[in-house]
Amino acid sequence: PVVAPGAGPGAPPADAIILFNGKDLSQWAHSRKGQLVPSEWPVRDGYFETGAGSGSVVTRESFGDVQLHVEFATPVDATGFSQGRGNSGVIFMGRYEIQVLDSFGNVTYADGQAASIYGEHPPSVNVARKPGEWQSYDIVFEAPVFRNNTLVRPAYVTVFWNGVLVHHRRALMGPTSPTMTVHSYVPHEAELPLTLQDHSNPVRYRNLWVRRLNR
Ligand code: MG
Repeated sequence: PVVAPGAGPGAPPADAIILFNGKDLSQWAHSRKGQLVPSEWPVRDGYFETGAGSGSVVTRESFGDVQLHVEFATPVDATGFSQGRGNSGVIFMGRYEIQVLDSFGNVTYADGQAASIYGEHPPSVNVARKPGEWQSYDIVFEAPVFRNNTLVRPAYVTVFWNGVLVHHRRALMGPTSPTMTVHSYVPHEAELPLTLQDHSNPVRYRNLWVRRLNR
């Protein structure tokens, strides 16, 4: 198969599903009381921002194994500390979070810093850019496999943060939950929406695209 590459580094290849066209959030929605309602997050100048307080957004489409490219910038006004500074997150299947946080000189617990598998594994190195600078995650997420309500294969995740490998096909212990707790898998659908977390901090996103992977 031939796939035309993107126009430049970070640009979506021809077989990618574009999750943000720079203009509107039609691919995303808030999930409220089981209903999808249009995203209220502000869009301006080719990026969008977490709508502090309006809740997380989910894709209208569901995904299993994917390659995801996402660019984000934490607030220039770097107030707050630890988990209260530039907190958002890329959450696969509504359960497995790769943390978004301002980790530039911002101390927090290791498995809660930017690019951590939240509450499970810190990234191997801290590659944080300064507040307000655009950063990238390139993530390969392999969904867990359940058979007869039993886990037969865990989820695996590979993460490049600003081009640097920080997780190399790391097995997840289970859904991400608070640090220092036991994480246990609970069977779920083979495909589910992606989530961007609203953690009440104004984090910006742009250039999001995803490719479905055939196992
Ligand atoms: Mg988060």
